[in-house]
Order: sequence, then structure tokens, then C-alpha cells
Amino acid sequence: MTQTQKTADSSTAKGTLYVVSAPSGAGKTSLLKAVLEQMPELKLSISHTTRQQRPGEVNGVDYHFVGVEEFQQMLEKENFLEHAEVFGNFYGTSRVWLESQLEQGHDVILEIDWQGARQVRELMPECRSIFILPPSQDELLSRLTGRGQDSEEVIQSRMAAANQEIQHYDEYDYIVINDNFDLACQELAAIFTARRLRKDSQKIRQQALLKELLN
Ligand code: 5GP
Repeated sequence: MTQTQKTADSSTAKGTLYVVSAPSGAGKTSLLKAVLEQMPELKLSISHTTRQQRPGEVNGVDYHFVGVEEFQQMLEKENFLEHAEVFGNFYGTSRVWLESQLEQGHDVILEIDWQGARQVRELMPECRSIFILPPSQDELLSRLTGRGQDSEEVIQSRMAAANQEIQHYDEYDYIVINDNFDLACQELAAIFTARRLRKDSQKIRQQALLKELLN
């Protein structure tokens, strides 16, 4: 194989980057968890955040929980592909891990807000973005209240923030409505699967089979 062919092959072997956003209460985290169980070949990026760890969350699994100073240092060192302030806390996506995963051909999901999604689209226009919506305002309110962890004031401000997030749905490539959980899972999985089946991806993945069949 010539050097030129090698370069062309490795560039098409790159994994797909998915950006998934949703208003708080749409069920994004639970949906992605369920889809990742079905499709373990997909990788989920673990963000860094300065927000407080919630009960049940595990450092290094749900997030990398860091102090504001550490976050600022990482920012100065350009460690983040994107970052944003959400609900008064900082969040960022580590650049090194993400780039190495894509380079190795893994498909990677970023579970980030619309501000981060915009930055990623600018830097990596080939990414695909998915927006998850709740089936109605009433259902959204009930899901935000149903968590039972927050005060009325917090719920109202989350509701306002959710409505703000929803304003950006039109910037995304795909829309999934999380009314029936299982159906929404299937729809998300269908997006990831269809992309993996594209000819360019299959030509790399199924190289041996194609060679055998064509001989
Ligand atoms: P939570 O603190 O409830 O887990 O997340 C709050 C919001 O921050 C969600 O919309 C979530 O998608 C977003 N978020 C989580 N990690 C990142 C990140 O690395 N970058 C950006 N821009 N947003 C993030």
C-alpha cells in the first residue's frame, strides 16, 4: 500500500462524533445509558465539571469533578475542546481523550449543552448532532418536579433554563422525542446504526469480507 492510500484509509477510518443535547428533564442521560448498554462499541465522553457531586454520582464515571481553579488551569492549557457555563457551573470536554478515540475509529458521544454543541460544530463540522425533546410542557414539569431533590425555586429556574435550551433544537441534525422510553431508545440506536452502515465506514470495517467476496 502506498503512503497516499494509507493516509486516505486512516482518515476514513475515523469514528463519528455525536453531540447529544436536551433540556434538563428530557431523559437524555437515562436514554443514553440504555442505548450504550445495547451498543457497547459506542463511547461516552466524561466531562469535567465544577458543580457539586450529586448523591449516587461517581467521580470519573459520571463526571470528573474538579475545583474552579483546576478547571481554569485546564482551560488555560487548552485542554478542552469546548466548555460552557451552565446553571452557574463550568463544564468542559477533554480534547486529548476524544481525539484519540476518534483516531482509533471509535464512535464517541458528547452529552453537552447547546453552547458546547455550537463550539463542536464549528471545530468538527462532520459531527452529527441529536436533540432530545420531552413530549409536552406538562410532562417536562412533572419530570423536573418528580426528581424530588430540588426546591420550587430551583424547579422554576430549571424549567426556564429548559425552555431556553429548547429554543436551540433547530441547530441539530436529528430530533428524538422521549415520550415512550423504549421507542426513543430504538430511534437513537437507529441513528447510530445507520451511520455505522454507511459505505465508507463499512468498506473499512468489512475489508476482509469484501476482499473475500470480490475474489
Ligand atoms: P448536569 O449538571 O445536570 O449533569 O448537566 C447540566 C447541563 O450541562 C446539561 O445540559 C449537560 O448536557 C451539560 N453538560 C454536561 N457536560 C458538559 C460539557 O462537557 N460541556 C457542555 N458544554 N455542557 C455539558
